Amino acid sequence: MIKYAVGIDLGTSYSCVYVWHDDEVKIIENDYSNRITPSYVAFTNSEILIGDAAKNQAPMNPYNTVFDTCRLIGRNFQDFEVQSGMKYWPFTVIEKDEKPYIRVKYKGEKKEFAPEEIISMLLVKMKEIAEDYIGSEVKNVVITVPTYFSISQYHAIKDAGLIAGLNITRIINSPTAAAINYGLSTKSIKERNVLVFDLGGGTCNVSLLSIDGGIFEVKAVASNNHLGGEDFDDRLINHFVQEFKTKFQKDLTSDMRALYRLRSHCERVKLALSSSYHVNFMVDCLIDYIDFYLSLTRDKFEELNQDLFQSAMIPIEKVLRDAKIDKCQVHDIVLVGGSSRIPKVQKMISDLFNGKKLNQFINPDEAAAYGAAVQAAILSDDTTEKIHDILLLDVTTLSFGIETSGSIMTPLIRRNTKLPFKKTETFKVFSKNSSSFTESFYIDSNPDNKSSVLIQVYECQRSKIGNKLLGKFELTISSVPQIEVTFELDLNYILKVSAIDKSIGKSTKKKITITNGLSKEEIKHMVAEAKKYRAEKEKIVQKMQARNYLESYAYSSRNILQCIDSIMDKIEDKIQESIMWLNNNEDAEKDEYEHKRKLLEDTINPIMKLYGTGDALWLDISGNLKNESV
Ligand code: ADP
Ligand code: MG
Repeated sequence: MIKYAVGIDLGTSYSCVYVWHDDEVKIIENDYSNRITPSYVAFTNSEILIGDAAKNQAPMNPYNTVFDTCRLIGRNFQDFEVQSGMKYWPFTVIEKDEKPYIRVKYKGEKKEFAPEEIISMLLVKMKEIAEDYIGSEVKNVVITVPTYFSISQYHAIKDAGLIAGLNITRIINSPTAAAINYGLSTKSIKERNVLVFDLGGGTCNVSLLSIDGGIFEVKAVASNNHLGGEDFDDRLINHFVQEFKTKFQKDLTSDMRALYRLRSHCERVKLALSSSYHVNFMVDCLIDYIDFYLSLTRDKFEELNQDLFQSAMIPIEKVLRDAKIDKCQVHDIVLVGGSSRIPKVQKMISDLFNGKKLNQFINPDEAAAYGAAVQAAILSDDTTEKIHDILLLDVTTLSFGIETSGSIMTPLIRRNTKLPFKKTETFKVFSKNSSSFTESFYIDSNPDNKSSVLIQVYECQRSKIGNKLLGKFELTISSVPQIEVTFELDLNYILKVSAIDKSIGKSTKKKITITNGLSKEEIKHMVAEAKKYRAEKEKIVQKMQARNYLESYAYSSRNILQCIDSIMDKIEDKIQESIMWLNNNEDAEKDEYEHKRKLLEDTINPIMKLYGTGDALWLDISGNLKNESV
């Protein structure tokens, strides 16, 4: 069987799928012939739309068109990300078991979907795009996600994969995946430090790698989760809303539909300004039949976004600091993500590196999916020479640790640590009423039960509590405890934490595995629901096919009848012509009569024969009457 490997770049704004086959990596176009698919899902009165179809109808159906789901997946309802997003998402987000759920109207009824279900619908779409190309079912995929993803988000993406009927063999950060595309395209034999700058729709992700032959070693990653093309669009929207207010004394923000239309035009203005210095667009009948002209120069666009562009430089500085690499040691700067096409952003990066030339020969929209497909091929044990020596050494984007005395987070696995990773550290126990507390690496004793301590596992960006609690367990301890805590994190973000009191021995060992995803029952229920939605979709597809068949049969039958009519007219003309000839030639020669009769027979007999035999009549492409046995 021919082997294929599939990589999907799951973006906040757009997703993309690549297939590895026969030593080649190939992008697969969607049903709209587009190479990237909007990460949009829409619910209507009759169906669920995904991708271009969903984005296209968004202005007409704003409350039931869901996007930005990457921002919701694997988060708690109270998370800042969710709360801040809710201020501008037109769709409704509700709280269910502390998690955000999306409420929409589907087929006239209120429905609630977990973000995992929405992401699974996007994954199914990307899976189908690949399957249409490959011609068989796709099971295993590598997915790329934004850099900021937490452990819960990784697991939630895996769950979304299960609901979509996919086995996600690896999740990698999008700029790291893009580096694979770059590395394979350059084929440099010398070790190079490569900085990948990925500015997408909602996030700014940066990876710094050293590429040495086939070894891709991630040195550091950094991101800004709230910075991307949508923020630049927002600035334009605010600008034009103000302009509209001044010109027409009307507030566009009160009309969701008008605002949506303005948003999509602002995005077009922004895209055009990456290649032109001045653009004009007209939005007809924006509100109250008013046509609105959008006119903007590149200078003004840059002025409106100056501070945002400036903050895109911060993750770059951060990776350099974290990787302890000086600017002048960076050999290549690679731009990916749609927004990295903005000329001002490119200039600022180049200036930051003292005028260094930027590498722009890989496709910024597709590089991550390309890298994912290569990684998928590696994991599928494809032994072809092109990839057999490629090794991706990835790092964790967040730190993991336990809570120690004074509500301090003591990390055992620090951000940018190479994966897989295992570390053991010994802690002492600090009793709150003891005054001998001098060191910080103490675990507080349990005030209710002196013979145990609480090991609380956190995921953190900072060293203060307020970080995310992943799990906890109690450990029985002796009167002179020596607590050994071990953290183990694998490439699939499965975190195992164990602890023992060394003074007692192995018998005290307690451990937990942090998987943090949906429960088996929840997944089972969602898989069944997804099946139901797919069956509904299949029914709609079959209905539309049946309708199309009937429609085309009716129209082609009408064409045939019209052609038969015109042939009958021609036959009538021939008969008429023969009768006229007879009238004008009362005394012609025998041969002449016979010749004329032959001509008429040749025209009429085939048709008479066809009617007589009951064979089907049809017209060939040049309009000649044919018959075919039925
Ligand atoms: P994500 O990975 O977050 O899904 P993408 O990398 O696909 O995002 O980038 C999408 C963003 O890039 C959108 O905000 C889009 O408007 C923007 N974009 C695409 N092309 C251009 C361009 N030529 N100039 C400016 N912005 C662009
Ligand atoms: Mg992207």
